[in-house]
Amino acid sequence: MTFEWKTIDSALRVEPGKPSKLSKRDTACDNLFADKREGEALAKANAKAIDRLQDALWAEGSRALLVVLQGIDTSGKDGTVRGVFNECGPLGVNVTAFGTPNEQELAHDYLWRVHKAVPRKGLIGIFNRSHYEDVLVVKVRGLVPADVIEQRYAQINAFERHLSENGTTILKFMLHISKDEQRKRLQARLEEPDKHWKFNPGDLEDRKLWTQFANAYETMLDRCSTEHAPWHVIPSDRKWQRNAAISSIVRGALETMMPLYPKARWKPGEFIIE
Ligand code: ADP
Repeated sequence: MTFEWKTIDSALRVEPGKPSKLSKRDTACDNLFADKREGEALAKANAKAIDRLQDALWAEGSRALLVVLQGIDTSGKDGTVRGVFNECGPLGVNVTAFGTPNEQELAHDYLWRVHKAVPRKGLIGIFNRSHYEDVLVVKVRGLVPADVIEQRYAQINAFERHLSENGTTILKFMLHISKDEQRKRLQARLEEPDKHWKFNPGDLEDRKLWTQFANAYETMLDRCSTEHAPWHVIPSDRKWQRNAAISSIVRGALETMMPLYPKARWKPGEFIIE
């Protein structure tokens, strides 16, 4: 399979300013990736390339990449980290999981904990959930008034613009699964002993709010896909397609950033190692 990341990118990207039409987007992408073996091989090759590119990003030391992963429970956020960034190792990648805010976090504005977690120059930072929870679960559960939520879309766009103008490339992925696929994955957590620990009865409460979450996701995609921080909707019913798609887009973005190893600061022959 050739590495046609631009085709993959534009098929899955939410064009800034255009409606995302989330309900019309498929949760599988057999048109892009038809063969499982080839898709897995592509994801593997991409993971190796991402590792090499991150090494150069670190050596260059002037820019960072932020990858935001959002999706409902069981959509595969952890699996994406494992499947796409597995070659980078702990030195190059910094993963932050955002859970329910603690007392100190709640005592600040909602972007406070997020800004502290953005990757330093040279690193790939991954957000497993993110500031978008503040227009998703917070909206669906009515944790703050509607007019406060309404202001947040523009605040988030401004925050991301600030990051991008200061050397951070941002890619955002919504992992899109069907309700039926979520049922299967939750069922597996009840049935398979090594998955029991992942079962959280609270997930069933969120599942009852499926439509409300879908609406909140759609508004988020419509309002916050920008040129400087685009959203991609990733068909995620098949894990191998999800990994092939995300790894291709991440690799493509890194290749476009073209991180360069700094030139040697000495002349050939200047130093002799005894
Ligand atoms: P995960 O489900 O991602 O594997 P957890 O079981 O720790 O991880 O769940 C994290 C929970 O924290 C989710 O239910 C999510 O909705 C919630 N959460 C994250 N950010 C916020 C926020 N800003 N306000 C309220 N809840 C949040």
